[in-house]
Formats: sequence, C-alpha cells, structure tokens
Amino acid sequence: MTPALSKFVFVMLAIGWYLIRYEYARRSRREKVLRSDRGPRETGLLLISLTGLGIVPFIYVATAIPHFAAYTFHPAQAWLGLFVAIAALVMFQLTHRALGRNWSVSLDVREEHQLVTDGIYRRVRHPMYSAFWLWAVAQALLLPNWVAGFSGLVGFGILFFGRVAREERMMLETFGDSYRAYTARTGRIFPSIF
Ligand code: SAH
Repeated sequence: MTPALSKFVFVMLAIGWYLIRYEYARRSRREKVLRSDRGPRETGLLLISLTGLGIVPFIYVATAIPHFAAYTFHPAQAWLGLFVAIAALVMFQLTHRALGRNWSVSLDVREEHQLVTDGIYRRVRHPMYSAFWLWAVAQALLLPNWVAGFSGLVGFGILFFGRVAREERMMLETFGDSYRAYTARTGRIFPSIF
C-alpha cells in the first residue's frame, strides 16, 4: 500500500457510500413525514458531521492541506484502513436494506413508519451509526494526517452524541412499549450479548 493508493481507497469509500445511499434516499423521499425533530440544531449537527467526514478529508486528498499535521505513512495501518472501509460499506448497505423507506437523513417519523428490529437491527439499535463510526475509523487509518484523519471521529462524534438520545426519545414516543422492549435487548452501536 502506498500513500496515493490509501487516498484512493478513501475516495472509493466515499463513492461507494454515495451510490448505496442515492437509491434509498430517492425512494424514502416519496414517503410522507408524520412528525419530525428537524430544526437548526439538527442542521448544525449534520453540517459538522459532513465537514469532518467529507470536506476536511477531501481538501486533504486534493491538496495535502493542512501540511503541518502530516505524519509518516505506515502501509500496515493503511491495509487495516482498507479492511475497515470494506466493513463500513457492507454494514451501510445492510442497514439501508433493512431500514428501507423508514430511512431519513435527519429525525423523521414517516406515515407508515415500521419499527425495524430484525436482521442487522436485531442486537444493535443504531447499526447505521456503527457504520459511520467505521467510516471515521477507516478515515483515521487511511489518511496520515492528524487533522484530516481524525476530523471524521470528531465530526461524527458530535452528531452522534448530539442526536442519539433525541432519536431514541422520538422512537419511544412513537412506538411505546415495543421500543422499550427493543431497547432492553439491544446495544446502541455494539451488539448486546447478554
Ligand atoms: N439510528 C438508526 C437509523 C438512522 S436513520 C441507525 O443508526 O441504524 C434515522 C432515521 O431512522 C430516523 O428518522 C428514525 O425515525 C429512524 N429509525 C431509527 N431507528 C429505527 C428503527 N429501529 N426502525 C425504524 N426506523 C428507525
């Protein structure tokens, strides 16, 4: 693995991500939204996450900026990054397939919203966020730059911790006891094994 190849893997990760999302986003847009927790706060969180996972690393890939934050490239680290990137894409595809039209980029409940508790959702409540964490880890492994590598973990971390409790409250208000029971038997981003 070379530094150029490692950057290329990151770009392929982003393209694969976009291709998976495009089709599901198109389909779910047709489903009417019943209630929503969108607002300035959600918009701000989405922008922060996009900056950390997308804008900062792409500026780095295109220009090597910020130069001061560069560190020595380690091939083994980049190979591990490739492995994590593949896992992120597989996970992202599985979660989109399971959520189907219930998916939303923000916090929405759709008219015929169904609580998904099967497949990849059986033991984890937020496997799509697990996939985003994997992207952020892959980014840190693939880009040998302290700022561009770690901006994904920071940016997505802010979205995740700023959103997940509100998302769960919304699901609880919508699905009541079934979501309460589901919460009891699952973990947030790691499978609950007990
Ligand atoms: N947090 C989930 C989904 C992210 S997409 C995950 O990480 O996999 C965000 C949308 O998914 C929200 O609008 C919410 O209404 C919906 N959602 C979250 N969990 C869900 C579930 N178990 N079943 C159906 N929809 C869900």
